[in-house]
Amino acid sequence: MAPNDVAEHGHRAIIHDPAQHAPLEKVACRAFGGTSHWWGGNCNPFLDCEFASGEWPIPYGELAQWYPAAAKFLGCGSNFINEVHPPAVGRDGVFLDGISRQAAFPRDLSLTWQRQAEAQSNLHVVLWAEVVGLNYGQGKKVSGVRACIAPSAELHHFSAGTVVLAAAGLGTTRVLLAEQMRGAEFEGGRHLGRYYMGHLTGTGSKIRVQPESTGWGVRSPEEGEYIRERLLVGPNGFGQCHSTAFWIGNFPLWDAEHRSGGKSAKYLLGKVAKTLKISSTDEALDSRLGLQRTEWRPHLANIKKRPMDAFVTVVRTLRKLLSGGLQRLPDYPQPERDGTYALWYHAEQLPSAENVVQVEGPVALNSLPPLSIKFSFSDEDVSLTVQAHLRLKKVFNESGSGISMPDFDPDKLAERIRKNAYDGYHQIGTTRMAATPEKGMVDENCKVFGVDNLYVASASVFPTSGHSNPTLTVVALAQRLAAHLSNKKTKAAVDLRLTEADGI
Ligand SMILES: Cc1cc2nc3c(=O)[nH]c(=O)nc-3n(C[C@H](O)[C@H](O)[C@H](O)COP(=O)(O)OP(=O)(O)OC[C@H]3O[C@@H](n4cnc5c(N)ncnc54)[C@H](O)[C@@H]3O)c2cc1C
Repeated sequence: MAPNDVAEHGHRAIIHDPAQHAPLEKVACRAFGGTSHWWGGNCNPFLDCEFASGEWPIPYGELAQWYPAAAKFLGCGSNFINEVHPPAVGRDGVFLDGISRQAAFPRDLSLTWQRQAEAQSNLHVVLWAEVVGLNYGQGKKVSGVRACIAPSAELHHFSAGTVVLAAAGLGTTRVLLAEQMRGAEFEGGRHLGRYYMGHLTGTGSKIRVQPESTGWGVRSPEEGEYIRERLLVGPNGFGQCHSTAFWIGNFPLWDAEHRSGGKSAKYLLGKVAKTLKISSTDEALDSRLGLQRTEWRPHLANIKKRPMDAFVTVVRTLRKLLSGGLQRLPDYPQPERDGTYALWYHAEQLPSAENVVQVEGPVALNSLPPLSIKFSFSDEDVSLTVQAHLRLKKVFNESGSGISMPDFDPDKLAERIRKNAYDGYHQIGTTRMAATPEKGMVDENCKVFGVDNLYVASASVFPTSGHSNPTLTVVALAQRLAAHLSNKKTKAAVDLRLTEADGI
């Protein structure tokens, strides 16, 4: 069976604002290896300054010590500090620079780890099983889980001394919400499903820069992986805890702002191929190309202005496709006609009590209910992202570094950021970590408050979304949890296990 073959049931959800949240079958892959079948492989750590708000109940160092092992697991390099400093960095203490690393191919973790998993005599993998609920033992303990194994609806009971739910942000939350509806009382239960977060991302403005002379851009493969330099506009020192990462890139194909006849032709070609069902069904690629979007008029206008460019690109693309397909590589930044580059942002979404994931009762014992997802970006999220652009522009334009940002209208930028605001790919916050059940659902060891042996390994435990894509931190916290559960409290123990595994 292919990924998602048995997923129909698990993907049932009512999404209240489909313009801001993707359908579940596009954002969660039901298969061994999970959503790594589709993810983009970008790895970024949280930064020290993002823990200053005090929302996380653990000190930053407690998480950061696990990043090297997590990077190793994901197949990306572990140095996230930029050695080549763009000239504007460091002003006012608000700019930090770093690099985003991309996991080496293959990014599908089931391919990387399948052999090691099979070699473990004490690991039993049950494929096509859907956990539908928890079983309870003596006192404040769970005794295991119940699951249906497709295609049968028959219940199977799996007993366990410790249960770790690792079914992605929304999947894990669904199991716990179903249990709550069946009568389970969790001490931090009122936080369950609340403060759902993702990120705002897209291209908002332009930047004039010489990547070769500043060293800012995308570097060549280093030990098989790609590195992208970025700047961070972090918490501003005036009590505002919000961060945005920026990097130089290209306007996405779907964004007619690139004004290129060739790119517009390529985009429309992709849409036609998708409509005729002759293109790839790779969700990550579809979302990168923006094939779910519907704007086509501005693209036709670009083609009309530059028909030769469009014609040459279509011929080249078709030739590449016929000679073995297009290779999925990171976009090397290429200047637009006016010498500028697109400036990409990836910004934090603030926790909001309005963003809630729920289930409706009554809930059967042998199935999971559909999710009801209320998720939207607030005006404050948009406004803080605009402010980050303005702060970056001020520093660049005053630095005399040769890097500058052309003028932009903040209201138009806000409109663009609002239009781009769309997530569901990063499922953060719905079982938030806190020091006490008054503030969150799981404790600092990711244990569900009030249950002695039930844990969560997922981005749903993050109490803030930060600026970065979540997976590196998901894996770092999972490794920290593994060490905690095996009573091997040092990271060296887990490092050693990783080193012993072939090829990593
Ligand atoms: C298109 C796309 C691009 C992305 N790009 C990036 C990126 O570049 N960088 C980044 O950091 N993140 C990226 N992400 C997010 C990233 O994929 C997730 O952060 C990551 O996969 C989360 O890991 P996880 O193990 O928590 O969940 P998943 O990888 O989704 O794994 C969850 C597993 O649980 C199983 N499951 C679910 N429900 C049940 C149940 N009830 N019973 C039994 N099993 C169940 C699923 O089958 C699956 O195997 C991207 C996501 C998408 C969709």
